[in-house]
Amino acid sequence: MKKSLALFLAAIFTFGLTAGAFAGDTLEDVKKKGVLVAGVKDSLPPFGYVDEKTRTIVGYDIDFINAIAKKLGVKVELKPVTSATRMPQLKEGNIDIIAATMTKNPERAKEIDFSDTYFLTGQKFLVKKGSVKSLKDLEGKRIGTAKGSTSEQNVKKALPTAEVLSFDDYPQAFLALQQGKVSAVTTDESILAGLLAKAPNKKEFEIPPKVQISEEPYGLGMRKGDANFVAFVNKTILEMEKKGEAKKIYDKWFGPKSETPLTRTFKIEAGK
Ligand code: GLU
Repeated sequence: MKKSLALFLAAIFTFGLTAGAFAGDTLEDVKKKGVLVAGVKDSLPPFGYVDEKTRTIVGYDIDFINAIAKKLGVKVELKPVTSATRMPQLKEGNIDIIAATMTKNPERAKEIDFSDTYFLTGQKFLVKKGSVKSLKDLEGKRIGTAKGSTSEQNVKKALPTAEVLSFDDYPQAFLALQQGKVSAVTTDESILAGLLAKAPNKKEFEIPPKVQISEEPYGLGMRKGDANFVAFVNKTILEMEKKGEAKKIYDKWFGPKSETPLTRTFKIEAGK
């Protein structure tokens, strides 16, 4: 009797904690501990990947984290996450912020808060050269993507007859494409361009330019209701935009001289 009451109370307590908004203040906590712990990708150039020379994780996402930490006057600790683990890691308090190619959308915004958009791309396909001209060519085919991503959800809707194979992350899906186990890899164009740039046999593959199935605005993820921290992060990235720092970071990773040249079609704006 006593034991079941205790279990019941424990269940209510746990549910109350996870269902309700975050009551803490990450901004204050980070200042106190002197370190900002960020969940990042570690095998997705040019967003987050291990630099061969320095053996450290670098990339577009990391540069934003470094700028936020610099403004706070704290150190940075990077923890690798996957598309499926990033939200649980944040909710469990293992990381303070997500900077991991993460699309902000209303469904996710029920669980966590997002910064203003700091990158914009769209979902495309990476295929064997000449094999795909339109979306129709992918009907009934096997397509690789990552677990827990919007890419997985979008492709199931856009190609209901396709067989979707979900991997832990995109490099595994690309390996499956190279081995002929899938006909395409689908995710954000910016990620596909990064995978392709690093591939030794890149001439064999392409991203058909007109085959796009969604728009993907990226946001930095924070705990739901962590209002001071969200405000600080938004203020910082808006300042970075105004001073031209954000564009500089974009040009470093996506400019004409980079391995993944893309056009910047967005500006960081308050409330967007
Ligand atoms: N941006 C998409 C998402 O957040 C795909 C990339 C990823 O899986 O991180 O799901």
